[in-house]
Amino acid sequence: MTLLRARALSKLFEDNQVLSGVSFTLRKGQWLGILGESGSGKSTLLRILGRFADQDEGEVLYRNERLTPVRDQLIPGHKAIKLVHQEFELFPNQTVLENISYSLRFYDPTYRQERVEELMQLTRLHHVQDHKAKLLSGGEKQRTAIAKALAELPDVLLLDEPFAHLDNRNRQAMTEAISRLRKKEDMACIFVTHEASDALAWSDEVAVLREGKIIQIGTPLVVYDQPADAYVAELTGSVNWLGRTGSGSRRFIRPEKIKITRNQEKSKWEGVVETIRFRGSYWDYQCTNSKKERIAFYRQKADLAVGEKVLLTYSEQDVRLVD
Ligand code: ADP
Ligand code: MG
Repeated sequence: MTLLRARALSKLFEDNQVLSGVSFTLRKGQWLGILGESGSGKSTLLRILGRFADQDEGEVLYRNERLTPVRDQLIPGHKAIKLVHQEFELFPNQTVLENISYSLRFYDPTYRQERVEELMQLTRLHHVQDHKAKLLSGGEKQRTAIAKALAELPDVLLLDEPFAHLDNRNRQAMTEAISRLRKKEDMACIFVTHEASDALAWSDEVAVLREGKIIQIGTPLVVYDQPADAYVAELTGSVNWLGRTGSGSRRFIRPEKIKITRNQEKSKWEGVVETIRFRGSYWDYQCTNSKKERIAFYRQKADLAVGEKVLLTYSEQDVRLVD
């Protein structure tokens, strides 16, 4: 079932075309990740979907009904579509508990107490429940803002950069909170991010936004493995360019598809190790050949040295083409 549909949304700020012709559909329970660089229009799009800003052209349909323009609404926002802003809007001098309870102020006190407890569990905020919002870490603020948005369970949750500015431990808490949310099967979510790894990890579908236009929508695997163009290829991960085909398409291969060989006959590429970077769970090697072309590949071991000659090989099946 389609919950939310964006049709040809466009937005202009003075002479800056921030969104043009943005269309997509969101099904019940679906998680759509919008991936784009800073300034690509992600926050503007979420504000339009969450009814905090009006589009200039196009329409947003919620359960097949056109959403009313923000200028005709008494209060901004939408009851069933909740936006967690990039700069989470909390009451700074109120505690976590007070901030969350506020979203449930019209409910019966017993229910309110139960619901707040559920939300505290989901977002693991018990240890800071009596802290003022202004004193929380970025991750705690973000989780409080999410708990507020979920107080009255929305049909669609909109998250603006849920992982931005989080250190590793907070990130872990955040990803766990999001995992628990994902299991609540009914809720759909649109989250925007500039981090490809987050978009690939958490989305059923990824939409790539470039300068206000969606240039590809697909499953994470399709967007990563069959990118629509060179831009998407480079945005979603590391790329080794291998020159062009006879018809002019650009060939590339991902670093994880490259192997070392000792067999001169199998070798497709010969060069020397230029840099080695330890990435925690693997080593990232950069090599150059005599034509100053570069190739990156990954290994589980640090068994090569800078300056060492290497023979590299790969399967033609793993080479991808873009125009
Ligand atoms: P992102 O969230 O992807 O970083 P934004 O949607 O915040 O991108 O912004 C996209 C573009 O729109 C930027 O160039 C930004 O400067 C511009 N912009 C955003 N909001 C406004 C506004 N209220 N007035 C004028 N320009 C704006
Ligand atoms: Mg933004």
